[in-house]
Amino acid sequence: MRTRDVTLACITDYGGRVRGKGYPTDDAASFARKGIGLAPTNLMITTFGDIVDSPWGSRGELLMMPDPTTETVIDLGLEKAAERFILCNLDKLDGSPWEGCPRHWLRRGCEALEAEFGLRPFAAFEHEFHYSGVSEDGGNAYGLEAFRQQGNFLQELVGTLTDIGVEPEMAMPEYGPGQFEVTNAPAIGVAAADRAVKFREVVRSVAHARGERATFSPVMGVGKVGNGVHVHFSLQSTDGEPASFDASGRYNMSAPLGRFVAGILKHMPAILPLTAASAISYERLQPHRWSASYNNLSVQDREAGLRICPLSGDNPEKSFNVEYRAADASANPYLVLGALVWCGLDGMRNALPLPEATESDPDALDATEIAARGLQRLPTSLNAAIEAMEASEAILSFMGQEFRDAYLMNKRSELKLLEGLDLDQQVAKYVACF
Ligand code: GLU
Ligand code: MG
Repeated sequence: MRTRDVTLACITDYGGRVRGKGYPTDDAASFARKGIGLAPTNLMITTFGDIVDSPWGSRGELLMMPDPTTETVIDLGLEKAAERFILCNLDKLDGSPWEGCPRHWLRRGCEALEAEFGLRPFAAFEHEFHYSGVSEDGGNAYGLEAFRQQGNFLQELVGTLTDIGVEPEMAMPEYGPGQFEVTNAPAIGVAAADRAVKFREVVRSVAHARGERATFSPVMGVGKVGNGVHVHFSLQSTDGEPASFDASGRYNMSAPLGRFVAGILKHMPAILPLTAASAISYERLQPHRWSASYNNLSVQDREAGLRICPLSGDNPEKSFNVEYRAADASANPYLVLGALVWCGLDGMRNALPLPEATESDPDALDATEIAARGLQRLPTSLNAAIEAMEASEAILSFMGQEFRDAYLMNKRSELKLLEGLDLDQQVAKYVACF
């Protein structure tokens, strides 16, 4: 029987899911020129696959424009055809960028940062996930036994990530039963978020080929360990020189990085729907869950909203980075990094002062001290996060009215689909998606 390779041209939608339309791979050049039609309402498909509300209804047309630098072939050497996909921007029919496109939004933020300050974000998404192919008992946190039980999964994963240019760095069993973490090297701007998209799909693909499943669900049940996505970032000059470290700067930060970080801290409560995008994300973002629950900065504290990471290796200029911990894989990676870049840019435009880093658990501070330090408890539910984002003039100015309203409508639709379900039932729904 004749088979022909098919490539799926993909976007990541507001629900954080990767969806697309396919064409025969040998027709790629023609589709790269003319694009692939898509209804704007496709972006409004909720995480769970239903369209509930949409500002556009059945009207309108966009073009998915494949970015040739993102062509990905996952060849697991099986009898099954290799999996091929390519990541796309969304343009209007006249060829101009569509304001609602998450990938364009990140690109526009990066371009503004470069034009106004000569800087580029250099970032890596660090993912945790659960893999079904190991036994869940035995106290195997970080264990050699868990590493043994996973068979060849991590080795295949690391090999495939290497083949597609995602540059894996570390691979390990994590704290939770069945939980793993694999990290990859940073990249500049949009390419960093592209890596996060590819990373998640490769993890799913390798697990699937082994008859298993990997899930990035933000939590696995009430009180159970969370799967975080920690975004490590620093700044580089346009000629590739590190621009984040200053041995005489506060907390070793360069002045530009200090302002960038101040912008993120200021807006952190309002960007949560973009970075912790599911209803169950808020089960993870609680004090003492090793995630983040305040918009605080701290040196080497794994419960800070922004953690200043330790210097590693013999080149502090290069290794110095800050980690945003209030993200998970229910969020669209372009929106996560886009939120950090737009907020950082706002901090630089307004020369915001760097707040003092906390040295103790913010949850143990009394209300007066919390207020005096400008700290805020992060929203404790998706609904509260949506309200915080809706109240932020700054986020509105970064995204524009149509994009912001459509995104929040999508998140509200997601909440409607969860009405009447308890947390464990909600988790089951998200585990099936992520
Ligand atoms: N699993 C934790 C989270 O939800 C992170 C643990 C760690 O610091 O690696 O973010
Ligand atoms: Mg971890």
